[in-house]
Parts: sequence; structure tokens; C-alpha cells
Amino acid sequence: DNPIKRKPDWIRVKAPTHPIYHETRNLMRENKLVTVCEEAACPNIGECWSQRHATMMIMGEICTRACSFCNITTGLPKALDADEPRRVGDAVAALGLRHVVITSVDRDDLRDGGAEHFARTIAAIRTAAPETTVEILTPDFLRKPGALEVVVAARPDVFNHNLETVPRLYPSIRPGARYFHSLRLLDEVKRLDPGIFTKSGVMVGLGESRSEVLQVMDDMRSAEIDFLTIGQYLQPTVKHAAVDRFVEPAEFEDYARMARAKGFLLVSATPLTRSSYHADRDFAALRAS
Ligand code: SF4
Ligand code: SF4
Repeated sequence: DNPIKRKPDWIRVKAPTHPIYHETRNLMRENKLVTVCEEAACPNIGECWSQRHATMMIMGEICTRACSFCNITTGLPKALDADEPRRVGDAVAALGLRHVVITSVDRDDLRDGGAEHFARTIAAIRTAAPETTVEILTPDFLRKPGALEVVVAARPDVFNHNLETVPRLYPSIRPGARYFHSLRLLDEVKRLDPGIFTKSGVMVGLGESRSEVLQVMDDMRSAEIDFLTIGQYLQPTVKHAAVDRFVEPAEFEDYARMARAKGFLLVSATPLTRSSYHADRDFAALRAS
């Protein structure tokens, strides 16, 4: 087991007390929706849900992969729920979201990795809430030929897939995934539909060096990735990968500066940045600019 390091002062999480937080939570319960905010015990839940910003997780709560940083249960998932896309669409409409993030567990058990279900979910949101912009955070669709094309054809506004860490740490942090496959996936999205914004992110504090992070940024830019997120890795339980160190706020500022200089259109790099943190606000600002 890996003991959990004490968090530094700059990682402060506000307790969820806002009335809209409870409203958001009730709506998720009523519609039987799973959120990554809860499943991953995200430290930003109080802030995000109080602003009606949530990341819904489709295709169940059980993942076929076992990444060592992730709090989602590994196992054999249940059959897909054909009614789920409609419920997601209805919840997005009921919440009145201007931007929604949809993610999923990995479904290596499905022939198409869940691509069709993603596409149906995007279509259901377009029908129920045509004004809402849709960001998807997808699995890597490794060894699922044709899956990516199905998702891209559904035309999400933002296609996000996280590289999570530097390539050297893949065997211990992201076993089952391939760094260059993930990078190529995003490159391919741009090739198939240049009108879709692409996005990716990494966690820091896992033992990577600054130069490795800068190399990942260069790799992302060569795949024409538009948006970047960088956040501190927090260890969910003693069974998960240990935090190597807490990256200081000034180092995050340095990463953000470097990323902007390299040409990313949107950059979020702070200790509490998560893939979907402020995604609604930042994307709205970009569209208005
Ligand atoms: Fe949910 Fe993302 Fe906000 Fe965390 S940062 S609470 S996962 S929307
Ligand atoms: Fe978690 Fe995604 Fe890895 Fe599954 S593939 S264990 S949901 S990070």
C-alpha cells in the first residue's frame, strides 16, 4: 500500500453548501445519471455543481481498464442501457447547461468500444438542448477499427482525450494504453473534421520532469491539439499510485505560459485543474472572442 501524503496549503477544497449544488445532485439522482465528479471524488465538486457544471459518465460505472491513478472500479461492465442517451439529453435540458462534458469508462468488451452509444448521446443532447455545446472525453478506442469515425460523425464541439502522463510513465500509470496511439487518435479527429476542437490533458506530480511535460506539449501541438489541461495528481486511496510530489503553483504558471507560447488556444494549468474544470466558462469565452 502507498500511504497518502498530506496535501499542501494550496490545495484547498470548498465544502459544497450552495443550494444549486443540491439541485444539481437531485437532478442527477432523479435521472439515474452517473457523474465522474462523484465517481472520481473530484475536489471541485462544490464549485462546479454550484454553477451547474457537471461531467456525466455514460456506459456504466465499471471499467475494463485499471489505470493506477483512477478510482473507477475495474471489472466486467453491464450491458449498455439503451435509454441512457435520452436521459442524458433530458438532464442537460433540465439543468439548462450551456456546455456539457460527457465521458465514459473504457468498454474494451464492446465491439465498437461504445462509439455508437457516444454518438447517440450527442444526438440526444442536440435534440433536447440544441443550444448546449457538447464536449466529449473519450476512451482511446484501441483496437476498435471504425469507432473513431462514428464518434466524429456525430460532431461534438470539443473532442477530448487525455494523454494523462508522459510516455515514460505509461507502463506503471496507464497500463493497457499506448501513448502514441492516444496522440494519433486526436490527430485523426482533426484530419476527419477540422471544425472540431481537440483537447487533451496530463496530471503532474507523478514523477515526470519539466522537460518531459514540455515534450508532451510539443507532441500535442504537432497533432494540432487546441486545448490543454494540466492538474496535480491526487491519490484516491492507498491502493493507487503514490503522489511523487506536489507541484508548486509557480510551476503551474510556468507550464501555462509555455503552453500559450506553443500555441494552445485554451490552457488551464493549476493544482486543481481537472479535464473538465471550467470547461463551460472557458469554451464560452473562446466562442465569444
Ligand atoms: Fe466534475 Fe470536472 Fe468539475 Fe470535477 S472539475 S467536479 S469532474 S465538472
Ligand atoms: Fe479510469 Fe478511464 Fe483508466 Fe478506466 S480507462 S481506469 S475510467 S482512467
